[in-house]
Amino acid sequence: MAEIQVVGVIGAGQMGNGIAHVCALAGFEVLLNDIDEGRIGLAVERIGHNMARQVSRGMVEGAVVEAALKRIRPTPALPELGRCDLIIESAAEISDLKRQIFSSLRSIVSPHTIIASNTSSISITRLAAGTERPEKFIGVHFMNPVPLMKLVELVRGLATSQETYEATLQFVERLGKTIANAEDFPAFIVNRVLIPMINEAVYTLYEGVGTVEAIDKALRLGANHPMGPLELADFIGLDTCLSIMQVLNEGLADTKYRPCPLLVKYVEAGWLGRKTQRGFYDYRGDTPVPTR
Ligand code: NAD
Repeated sequence: MAEIQVVGVIGAGQMGNGIAHVCALAGFEVLLNDIDEGRIGLAVERIGHNMARQVSRGMVEGAVVEAALKRIRPTPALPELGRCDLIIESAAEISDLKRQIFSSLRSIVSPHTIIASNTSSISITRLAAGTERPEKFIGVHFMNPVPLMKLVELVRGLATSQETYEATLQFVERLGKTIANAEDFPAFIVNRVLIPMINEAVYTLYEGVGTVEAIDKALRLGANHPMGPLELADFIGLDTCLSIMQVLNEGLADTKYRPCPLLVKYVEAGWLGRKTQRGFYDYRGDTPVPTR
């Protein structure tokens, strides 16, 4: 298998920009794609800002950042990803959307290219089946924010080859991350545990057991969590949290995974958390204000 040098990232949202950031810093050439060209520009701006912060904290040298930024190429045209050795899909958590992207990649990618998905919950085996190259398909689940979080879950689909797994493992280690192997079951390990806890916190709010502030304070100070669950839900994105609950609910068919109606309501309102400036908190002012 050819050495990974050029990495394509599809989806320049909060995860895509973090993935592009760590790949560029690790020396890979990065082709950053999004269906919305404006999002690519915003992502490159954000990466520059986040890298500058790393320099000011003494985590990376200025010259390293300058070289890394030059390695990121905005690539709105999907066919240009044809020269990638690895493509990481990080578009929205919608199964049909992801399958459509993989189907468009069929005629574009080189025979040696590994295709990875950063999905938080969707079956890798099912996504792989739509690519005509399931042995070269793998789940690479980064954590948010990518530059700071150490873990990456590696998820093999039923057909993922050992060669693909080993090449991907080497790639992730070059990023300086630590891996946890997870089997291909709904939401893998981290989100199988984390998202039902967040959903339960939303039920706690829905049933009036506590206010947004009380629930977050209780888990921060009472369970020593660095962030309260509703704060964390806003950080992840309420649409992503809901999609993961739906995958758990459908995939495991246990009523304990039913999404809280209040979570559904926030998503229907378009209050998706930090990325839309409103979720369980309103972020439009200087300090976040609870919305309930
Ligand atoms: P986001 O909403 O911030 O970004 C999604 C991006 O995908 C947007 O910029 C959108 O324009 C783009 N997009 C949509 N359709 C596209 C297409 N056809 N082609 C190219 N780009 C397209 O979402 P996010 O939080 O970055 O999540 C992305 C993926 O990462 C999801 O699968 C999510 O489950 C996963 N993930 C999220 C988190 C988290 O904490 N948010 C953590 C780990 C993994």
